[in-house]
Amino acid sequence: MKITFLGTAAAEGIPFPFCACKTCEHARKEKGKNIRKRQSMLINDDLLIDIGPDLYAACADLGISLVELKYLLVTHSHEDHFNALNLKLRQRMFRLSTDLQELTVVAGPSVLTMWDFSGGKDKSAEIRRIPFSAGRQLELSPYKIQSIEASHIPSIGDAMNYIVDDGRVKLLYAADTGYYREEAWSQLAGLRLDAVVMEATLGTRQQAKTHLSFGDFQLMLDRMRELEVITETTPVWATHYSHQCVDPHEEIAAYFQSMGVTCAYDGLSVEI
Ligand SMILES: [Zn+2]
Ligand SMILES: [Zn+2]
Ligand SMILES: [Zn+2]
Repeated sequence: MKITFLGTAAAEGIPFPFCACKTCEHARKEKGKNIRKRQSMLINDDLLIDIGPDLYAACADLGISLVELKYLLVTHSHEDHFNALNLKLRQRMFRLSTDLQELTVVAGPSVLTMWDFSGGKDKSAEIRRIPFSAGRQLELSPYKIQSIEASHIPSIGDAMNYIVDDGRVKLLYAADTGYYREEAWSQLAGLRLDAVVMEATLGTRQQAKTHLSFGDFQLMLDRMRELEVITETTPVWATHYSHQCVDPHEEIAAYFQSMGVTCAYDGLSVEI
């Protein structure tokens, strides 16, 4: 399984244009891995998790085309994770020379409501929707998909994390979420994961039930190890950072390295 991080920031991005904090100023000056677009991740060339406002910029920067995309999994309806325009622009008139295969969109009711409200039409965007909710399973050949209940902003209601299994690697994509509720732990118990991508939005400066601080990130890993869902050597990537809560890339990368975790950055592509 190949994973490519298209964006590794929380909603505002880094640097956030309306912010002069240390992390944003550092990113403007140093650029490179300090520039973080809004979160999205590509699995192989055919499965995308989340489709936010920076999809165009990420693909342009990385020289990635999405013409092979078959599946889209959307975690929740926050606008940094679902931007309807990306799907509306799939319609024929914007790609006259390119035939696309149908895109299967797996999402909760709040995302599909946003899609409908945007005026998007499944037929013209050539999508097939699959309404989904936490605790369910689905086969999207060659993948097996499982959804885990996220602990996110209550008004979103139907936020999910996903487990994607390509037959060789079982990966958990845990964003956006705070420390899991017992319901989620019972959904995870008994599974053996080969890789984890998990949010670390709140760094060392804040704590909440709706996102993970670095401390809660560690507690999540501890619980997964206790349940034998992962081992000491399971690869883990941290992502979805808020500029207000984390230090520059070099500093948080060193912090995570000491935990045996890789600090993801935009454009990082790994074969698992
Ligand atoms: Zn987010
Ligand atoms: Zn800032
Ligand atoms: Zn969110």
